[in-house]
Amino acid sequence: MITYINFRIIIGNCNNYIFAIITNTNIMLVQIDNLPQYLKAAGIKPSVQRLRIFDYLVHSTDHPTVDTIFIALSPELSTLSKTTVYNTLKIFQQYGIVSVINIEDHETRYDADTRFHGHFKCNQCDDVQDFIVDQEQPIIASLQQHLIVESHYYLKGICPKCRLDQNKYNQNQLN
Ligand SMILES: [Zn+2]
Ligand SMILES: [Zn+2]
Repeated sequence: MITYINFRIIIGNCNNYIFAIITNTNIMLVQIDNLPQYLKAAGIKPSVQRLRIFDYLVHSTDHPTVDTIFIALSPELSTLSKTTVYNTLKIFQQYGIVSVINIEDHETRYDADTRFHGHFKCNQCDDVQDFIVDQEQPIIASLQQHLIVESHYYLKGICPKCRLDQNKYNQNQLN
């Protein structure tokens, strides 16, 4: 069960472990008190590598790829391989504690926040930001008789920071 409080703080209870998600327009942070218990409750054996990979995901807001996670963790986990990262994420996905973002054909990103939300990708800086979507299944007249089993909200464009940089660049060109 997830409760929205003034669209800023979301408090939930997942397998008896309280988590809180603090949001603003572009950041949704998942906080889990006890990672080993969280993995166990999901049915996953909490090995050192699995714990570190999940911990990294929980603390990242940029929706990392296998490569990003591998590069970040390989210095401390010397036996880690890209295949292990990939297989671990696959297990997390199968057991429902990670969701997959396929906003681009050529890259797969991962998210420890499995609640329904949308993703915006900036075409200039490649940043992928979260946004809250009020309704997972909007009523679409032509799909009334269909059973929807999966929905994704992907938007692309230019983020405010890149737009600002672009404006500054344009102004410098004029001066
Ligand atoms: Zn950007
Ligand atoms: Zn997300």
